[in-house]
Amino acid sequence: PKKAEILKKSVDITTVGDLLEYFPFRYEDRSRLLKITDINSAATTIQVLGKIVDIEIITKGRKRLVATFRDDTGRVKLIWFQGVTWIQRTIQLNKSYVIYGKPNFFKNEISFIHPELESYDTFKQKPETPFHPVYPLTESLKKYYINNKVLIRIFQTIIPEIYQEIPETLPQWILDKFNLLSKQKAIKEIHLPSNTKQLEKARYRLKFEELFFIQLKILAAKADRKRKQEGVIFKKVGTLFNRFYKDNLPFELTNAQKRVIREIRNDCATGTQMNRLLQGDVGSGKTLVALMSMLIALDNSYQTALMVPTEILAQQHFSSFKKLLNNLDIQIELLTGSTTAKEKNRIKEATANGNTQILIGTHALIEDTVQFKNLALVVIDEQHRFGVAQRAKMWEKSTFVPHILVMTATPIPRTLAMTLYGDLDISTIDEMPPGRKPVITRHIRAASRLRAYHFLKEQIDKGKQAYIIYPLIEESEKLDFENLVTGYKQVQSYFPPPRYVVGMLHGKMKPKEKEEEMLLFQRKQIHILVSTTVIEVGVDVSNATLMIIESAERFGLSQLHQLRGRVGRDKSQSYCILITKDAISDTVRKRMSIMVNANNGFTIAEEDLKLRGPGDISGTQQSGIPFNLKIAELAKDASVISLVRNLAIRILDIDPDLANQQNVILKNQLVKMKKNEVDWGKIS
Ligand code: ADP
Ligand code: MG
Repeated sequence: PKKAEILKKSVDITTVGDLLEYFPFRYEDRSRLLKITDINSAATTIQVLGKIVDIEIITKGRKRLVATFRDDTGRVKLIWFQGVTWIQRTIQLNKSYVIYGKPNFFKNEISFIHPELESYDTFKQKPETPFHPVYPLTESLKKYYINNKVLIRIFQTIIPEIYQEIPETLPQWILDKFNLLSKQKAIKEIHLPSNTKQLEKARYRLKFEELFFIQLKILAAKADRKRKQEGVIFKKVGTLFNRFYKDNLPFELTNAQKRVIREIRNDCATGTQMNRLLQGDVGSGKTLVALMSMLIALDNSYQTALMVPTEILAQQHFSSFKKLLNNLDIQIELLTGSTTAKEKNRIKEATANGNTQILIGTHALIEDTVQFKNLALVVIDEQHRFGVAQRAKMWEKSTFVPHILVMTATPIPRTLAMTLYGDLDISTIDEMPPGRKPVITRHIRAASRLRAYHFLKEQIDKGKQAYIIYPLIEESEKLDFENLVTGYKQVQSYFPPPRYVVGMLHGKMKPKEKEEEMLLFQRKQIHILVSTTVIEVGVDVSNATLMIIESAERFGLSQLHQLRGRVGRDKSQSYCILITKDAISDTVRKRMSIMVNANNGFTIAEEDLKLRGPGDISGTQQSGIPFNLKIAELAKDASVISLVRNLAIRILDIDPDLANQQNVILKNQLVKMKKNEVDWGKIS
């Protein structure tokens, strides 16, 4: 029962069915044994045969058990921090064991932390199969001794017993047409593979199925919405839009901006509801596209709303909208968490009776008491910062469903887009405003931090400003804060007042305080702004030309790119310095070099997706994907995605309600999915 509870909590497995779909993410050849002398530092996980000749419990520092393991070519150390007593009790000296794990090299010594240990007798008795499945494990699984060995044993026991009861989930005609294994056979082979060919077929069948149902679901929801959801029609482009375009626009629109505005305008004239994603790299000028689309709505006497994830950003959009629209006599309001109660009431009333034309705000807009008279266009900026449920709320703000435009600066590879946003139409701004210089990026180690500070000094001497960013280290908000304050003090001691002014910005500050600090920075009264990632999205101060990111190894690449987008916002040359700790892994080195070499969000997103290993559960969560893929990999399975997407389109074309006898099985499967998953229909 204890283990069942952990399985449920940690990996959401409650039934045998769930368990059967807990797939290995790779397979190892476990027939091969290595000699100690042949271990090299490039090894990942390896197996060695030898004997334990000595055990020692060390209590100085963290308590641990250290065993000496040797064969006729050398010796290594085995180290356990957990389960010390148990290990000590079970190990027998001078008996032959096979150890399995990843070797660590320190000075001239090789060690294994928490290796798997198996007596050579047991090892020999195992049936000859070169495929040893490796399952994804979480820390809490490991803590309760649900390790790979245990999982393998479970599958070896249950699969022969029950696999013939596994129901088929794809219709026979699809199995035939695409030459797919049956579900039963696929499940059996994936856990207990008989040979490479069958294993490959099993993996293909399961990927096919997983991706196919996602596509079918998204496309069915989209077709359904397009059939049922009427959209407001914007008949004309009127005086507001035209006057703005002629008199107020401070620069020429890029061709990409023009094209996207046209796409939006066309969409809003068809009579079906627009549900569109606008993606464009940081600094590509999405705000202006939003603003001009909103003007079209206003020209047709409708209201509009712009929702953004942070107070700072709301404030910034509000003032830039006001500036840009200053002579056009448009009612713009700002509603955020820090708006006073009295002011809130006034704005709500003005919005309900139709006076407010553009309402800008944070999550405060979602509140049920915010209602519109005739809201026809909602723009959601940095949409990945909002949950699906939050975004869906904006559908219900008026008596009819508004057009929805969601914007993101986290460009996503095409396959990912098809899967994540299959329900949306996509517009892309793939061109930067003219004259922008790519941000020059460098990676340095903490030991050379002073070089960065020196460079920072030069920038300030030139009248420029800079950000220094500290990461959020999720486990402890308190530690994060201390981290930031320590950093702040360090920066301040190097840049002392009165010559230099160093500001600080973090999540714990009151909105008002944040706003004041930002304002000082905008007015150049602060030289260096030390901040956490609250600065990440959207902030626009073009005189800031340097960003230093501390502990850069802790950030995701897309996030680093977002952060870096805070500089390089006009024609001056900007810089980004990534500081990591001195000793870094190969992966970190690669990740930093991607950042140094690539300036395009798309490239970075693709590289990032490739770098993340399969089965990297936390990686998936990080990228904001609202579901966990069990076996398919978006980066690698692009061809399968296109194939199943086309199949789903063809099926729905012919049989939109999946009513044909041969498709009933698909319909049932969709109903089953509906019960426990995201509402794809309102993903925007
Ligand atoms: P993002 O797409 O990251 O939201 P913004 O909309 O904040 O980017 O635009 C970045 C900066 O570029 C702003 O200062 C904006 O005024 C400016 N900008 C937008 N469009 C153009 C253009 N066509 N030409 C020159 N500058 C532009
Ligand atoms: Mg923006």
